[in-house]
Amino acid sequence: MAAEKKYITDIGPPHYREMVHPVLLKNYGKWRYHEYVAPGVIKHVSMNGEEVYMVRAAVPKIVSVYYVRELCDIADKYSDGYVKFTSRHNVEFIVTDKKKLDLLLKELKERGWPVGGTGRSLKAIIHTQGWVHCHTAIIDAPGLAKALYDELYEYFVRDDLPGKLKIAIACCLNMCGAVHCSDLAFVGMHRKPPIVNDDIVSRLCEIPTLVASCPTAAIRPAPEKKSVVVNEERCMYCGNCYTVCPGMFIHNPKYDCLSMWVGGNAVAGGPPEFSRLAIPYLPNNPPRWPEAVQAAKNVIETWIKHAKKGERIGDWIKRVGWERFFTLTGIPFTDKHIDDFIFSVPTFRTTTLFKWR
Ligand code: SF4
Ligand code: SF4
Repeated sequence: MAAEKKYITDIGPPHYREMVHPVLLKNYGKWRYHEYVAPGVIKHVSMNGEEVYMVRAAVPKIVSVYYVRELCDIADKYSDGYVKFTSRHNVEFIVTDKKKLDLLLKELKERGWPVGGTGRSLKAIIHTQGWVHCHTAIIDAPGLAKALYDELYEYFVRDDLPGKLKIAIACCLNMCGAVHCSDLAFVGMHRKPPIVNDDIVSRLCEIPTLVASCPTAAIRPAPEKKSVVVNEERCMYCGNCYTVCPGMFIHNPKYDCLSMWVGGNAVAGGPPEFSRLAIPYLPNNPPRWPEAVQAAKNVIETWIKHAKKGERIGDWIKRVGWERFFTLTGIPFTDKHIDDFIFSVPTFRTTTLFKWR
């Protein structure tokens, strides 16, 4: 679509080209090469010889207005008032004047903004809204992200890991994060069916919508009380019903937990891969989730020790085998690792590179 074409709509953001740095716009599609100059600094060279330095800094996903003002001040000073965000929420300052590069790096250091996340390093952690914003949240994804960042900080500011390291956290199975395609991920899990509050359901919820929200058809109407009943045998504790109806109480401080997943989207030269279950149960233990942080560190450190250069976590596991992964990490293999969900068969292989044998 031509950039100049005006959208006649009031829905959604403006066309991205209206906000791209002029030098990037001028060289759009005309880049010759890029190179990693230092952790967090990428040099792009265009066909006509223009050079642009991208300086990548870590940004918390939930920010204050003061933080945004600080961000804008830095951008005004060093990157002509422009910034860009990567798909994993790192911010990049666009430096077209090389003389400003060292000054920017110095200022970011003085302000305590970590610079890194390029090449073979930890990227910013993708996470969902957590307790600050969403009523379905089991874990507080931003809180766990902060606890992980504090422990894994050095992997963001250096780029000598075996491969890229992408971490994601979702606070419930709705999974607004990128858990399915990240090297290492956490998902908040319920482990009990919802308890129906007939009073709330009858007064606040649309029964057909509620019944339709259940992916396993575990909910059926109970017209005599203008409510519903749950067939617990069919329930997989996804919490979808609670998302549409606050009368389906599914939170349970005793049983709610986290699971840890590894190896998503990581096979070089092959089809994308979904993450696989590594640990089915970790305690939901705020505010610092020490068990989850320790579990992540264990996998990352084992990967760093045993992987070959260029291998992401999934590549490494694929080479050594899952048996060896569980042996090397010391993670127990349990019956929970066997996928016996009735609808799992159609989703075993979902890539376009699927081959019949
Ligand atoms: Fe809400 Fe679940 Fe999304 Fe978290 S993952 S923001 S709890 S819907
Ligand atoms: Fe259905 Fe999920 Fe609610 Fe269970 S938790 S009743 S599977 S929507």
